[in-house]
Amino acid sequence: MDTTEKLTEIFKEFPGIGERQAKRFVYFLMSRNPDYAKTLSSLISELKKEVLQCKECFRFFIFNKEKSKICEICANPNVDSSTLMIVEKDFDLESVRKSKTYHGKYFILGGLVPVVEKNTHSKVRIKELLEKISAEGGSASGGKKDRLNEIILAFALSPQGNHTDFYLRNQIKDLCESLNIKISSLGRGLSTGTELEYSDNDTIKNALKNRQ
Ligand SMILES: [Zn+2]
Repeated sequence: MDTTEKLTEIFKEFPGIGERQAKRFVYFLMSRNPDYAKTLSSLISELKKEVLQCKECFRFFIFNKEKSKICEICANPNVDSSTLMIVEKDFDLESVRKSKTYHGKYFILGGLVPVVEKNTHSKVRIKELLEKISAEGGSASGGKKDRLNEIILAFALSPQGNHTDFYLRNQIKDLCESLNIKISSLGRGLSTGTELEYSDNDTIKNALKNRQ
């Protein structure tokens, strides 16, 4: 493989990018001056140096001076720790956060559960989620914080999103029942096939209000 082919393969791994678009990126880069490529590659390495994955919610964040292992949402004492919203990916969290209608905690599942899949546990963070529910829903969650009492499942209204909702409910049902934690799903304010990341603030607000 020559450099253009290698780069094309890399761009093809980007979300939503196919072969044709990947090639267009490569041609675009070829047409730019050398400084452009230099800036781009140094920004990419900088990004990796500055980013950490929060050990509480698993989102990526730019770490602060203290090199805290948890992100600013999880570290914020004003966040409502009685609700936990489970989303597919970082981008969904950002959309909900921007809508300013939800003030609880988040958990990033790391993907959706495919309808036909044998080894689900290796693809999404179910084990980590169960551990988090046990820790935050149990009596040992510390005196100051509100105990977790509601989990909101917030996945896309696609067949895969619905399957993930169904699958996850089954996985966490017994634990949530024993800890007296309610499980709800984002309301049907989102139209069919809608992805959270493309939803506007009002849609998210309605979906939250109509959760069931
Ligand atoms: Zn976090």
